[in-house]
Amino acid sequence: MRAPLIILILIVIAVLALVGYNSGWFGSPPPPGANPSATPAASGATTPSGPAAEPEEPVGDGGVEQLPDEAQPQPAADPVKTPDAPSAGSFGHFPAGDLIPKSGSGYLDRTVWSPNLCFPFAEAAFANSQVYGAGGGMGPKDKPSQCDSSNYSLPWRDNFCESRGYASPLCVSGKGHQGQDIRPATCKKDLHWVVAAEDGIITDVGTYTVTLTGAAAPHRVYRYLHMRMNQLAVKEGAQVKAGDNLGKASNDFGGTPTTIHMHFEIRAGVAGTSTDGKAVKLHTFLPPYQSLVAAYDRKRSGQACH
Ligand SMILES: [Zn+2]
Repeated sequence: MRAPLIILILIVIAVLALVGYNSGWFGSPPPPGANPSATPAASGATTPSGPAAEPEEPVGDGGVEQLPDEAQPQPAADPVKTPDAPSAGSFGHFPAGDLIPKSGSGYLDRTVWSPNLCFPFAEAAFANSQVYGAGGGMGPKDKPSQCDSSNYSLPWRDNFCESRGYASPLCVSGKGHQGQDIRPATCKKDLHWVVAAEDGIITDVGTYTVTLTGAAAPHRVYRYLHMRMNQLAVKEGAQVKAGDNLGKASNDFGGTPTTIHMHFEIRAGVAGTSTDGKAVKLHTFLPPYQSLVAAYDRKRSGQACH
């Protein structure tokens, strides 16, 4: 008996619900033609600060240590192919002794200590500071990556005598960086060959050093640091010719890795005197920059080492 009444009530409720929905009684959908920006909380179309800032690009290695699987950011130009085409003048480089400001006092001696030096990389390379350059421990804060293009482009910069605690007798304070830091052609370790500076013998292989002693007088001593030590092309006692492969530029530094670079030293094979009159004892660390610049000029002009 009451069933028809109940059905009628249900129909009325259903009709009311449908009308109410379309009229927006339940909050949605918005009436046609309504401006979404009138309800910012729901739309999220605008924020108080206007267009959001782009997230920063990832910085690659993020500092000194490079992990094995890390993606390699590419330097601005690809310098692998060759040193720049030969040109009338020399390539871009700061003069010897002109260090990055506040990184120490450079040594101004102009002696080319190794006049026939074979440039110690097979390819292009970039002499600059691995500590005060991008990604270095004292580097610019806004350039946290050692793979920053500034490290892989000209001009070169001297960093012999850069502030360090090591004994380096020719430096003003008697202490400082004992050689020159050189980045390989690209920011990729274990790829770019480091080569013999002149004919000689590998007189020592340490945990992260390789020492080459020149065969000919004055028996200069070259020390190479931070190659990939378990992939060296030479052993202690090996005889090498200028330009022979020694190993690949890397970041080996005993335990904790350093940046990808090769630290290059020239030490006196005999006692002598610098052009500015300083006494040079046997095995004194000599400024390599002038010799490297001249060697790189020869390399750029296509001159072979042997
Ligand atoms: Zn160094």
